[in-house]
Amino acid sequence: MDRRQFCKTSFAASLAVGTPFLAGCGRRAATEASIPAVSLDGAEIELSNAAIQELSQALSGPMILSGHPEYDRARTIWNGMHDKRPALIVRPANSTDVSHAVSFARDHNLLLAVRGGGHSWPGKSVCDGGLMIDLSQMNGVMVDRDTQRARAQGGALLGQLDAASLAQGMVTTAGVVSHTGVGGYTLGGGFGRLNRKYGLTVDNVRGAEIITADGEVRRISADQEPDLFWAIRGGGGNFGVVTEFEYQLHPFERNVLSGSIVWPIENARDVLEYYAEAAESYSDEMYVGPVMARNPDLGDVIVMDVVYNGDPSEGEKELAALRAVATPAVDGVMIQDYMVMQTINDVAFGHGIRSYAKNGMIKEWSQGLVDALIEAYDPRVFLANHVAGGAVKRVGETDTAFTHRNAEIMLVFASGWQDAEMDDELIAATRAYYTAIEPFMGGYYDNIDFDGAEAAGNYGPAYARLARIKGQYDPGNLFRLNSNIEPAAG
Ligand SMILES: Cc1cc2nc3c(=O)[nH]c(=O)nc-3n(C[C@H](O)[C@H](O)[C@H](O)COP(=O)(O)OP(=O)(O)OC[C@H]3O[C@@H](n4cnc5c(N)ncnc54)[C@H](O)[C@@H]3O)c2cc1C
Repeated sequence: MDRRQFCKTSFAASLAVGTPFLAGCGRRAATEASIPAVSLDGAEIELSNAAIQELSQALSGPMILSGHPEYDRARTIWNGMHDKRPALIVRPANSTDVSHAVSFARDHNLLLAVRGGGHSWPGKSVCDGGLMIDLSQMNGVMVDRDTQRARAQGGALLGQLDAASLAQGMVTTAGVVSHTGVGGYTLGGGFGRLNRKYGLTVDNVRGAEIITADGEVRRISADQEPDLFWAIRGGGGNFGVVTEFEYQLHPFERNVLSGSIVWPIENARDVLEYYAEAAESYSDEMYVGPVMARNPDLGDVIVMDVVYNGDPSEGEKELAALRAVATPAVDGVMIQDYMVMQTINDVAFGHGIRSYAKNGMIKEWSQGLVDALIEAYDPRVFLANHVAGGAVKRVGETDTAFTHRNAEIMLVFASGWQDAEMDDELIAATRAYYTAIEPFMGGYYDNIDFDGAEAAGNYGPAYARLARIKGQYDPGNLFRLNSNIEPAAG
């Protein structure tokens, strides 16, 4: 496959430069008596112009309909696979706007999508014919140095949270691509490079403001509506629109030992076999996890991404044996700003690519898993990971609604391409790689992919409580475009 072909078809790994990832109202409502729309259960309905005008007038932020110059931009989410056309898009300016929009959807039995950062791989933050609440204008982050807390609005991005926190000498766990939204990311769990030390992002949420299906604006915490507060920490967008998260921050030295070590794919067996033995013994300060992919310059490679959150000389000692497994083609681990790694994949995983991903939780490394990863390796598919263990594992299985606490690592199989004609081929390749590893996995991260039929089982021991809380706060299942929880009858 030549380089141009590769760039059209798949993700590719790289190091110093990151991990290239490729392989007011529209006029219509003013002139028509009604517009076609889609109900919660998929039926065709009509929305009267008068009702739409009434909503528009109640809002401080804009409403965008088909025909408006912003319409196409507003309905576009990160994954270019999802080309959907909402009947209405509301861009709330504040929580009251969100409440109006939620109430409108509920009263009209209208399909509802909620967009935080728009990074839903399966495209759940946009819909055909429904109402899309686009939180992108509610993106402020405020940090309080004294209380060591950050308050981020529901449409903020991870890079904004990182930047505001680091500017005050603090940090919380945040994911590895900075243009991902805090909204969906936090509600589903939140894996990042600091979670072995500080836990998942949900473990750092101390409070939230949420607009529930009845339109009420609620402040929730461990003391206020504790059931709902428990449910949003892993239960996804099932319970309402979160307009603000309050995060615990931790003092942090932003210059950390970090970077990528890269070996040719021929060394993959030695590197993985070593890692499989060593993974459990790494300190909580160490984040190190494997990536396998084709790099446009280096060919097929195995990469270990590293962030050591502690004394760099201790980090160097912990890394020494890994570095000695085989001579790296590139060793880019050095003391550098934490944001270098936090943004290193931003361009590679840029907006608009077509992409498909599968993932699963690995409870333990085994020789069989190493063999399968090597045998099933497919250069069209990017093998990535989210390391767990450490503080993630020390939280009780049902202390939050995120129950996959005993995983050592999550493996992610992802492909990215540009040409729609390649959809079938790349989806099949991704599924095949995943299927080869599936026997070693138990449970999955529904923030990356999910299958509606499996949602109940994947929430595991949290599901019954989640269903009861869903029944209490969203009995009509208004918030259903997510890894959905069926409301239990009250
Ligand atoms: C390039 C990329 C990198 C990623 N990296 C990581 C990573 O490092 N770690 C990790 O854990 N995950 C990662 N993910 C997965 C990520 O956590 C999910 O895709 C997450 O849903 C993204 O949140 P969002 O707000 O951007 O998504 P959106 O598409 O806006 O929303 C996703 C879901 O969450 C709901 N939702 C969003 N915001 C709100 C809100 N404020 N209130 C209520 N519901 C809301 C939506 O309705 C939808 O169901 C990554 C995904 C991508 C595409």
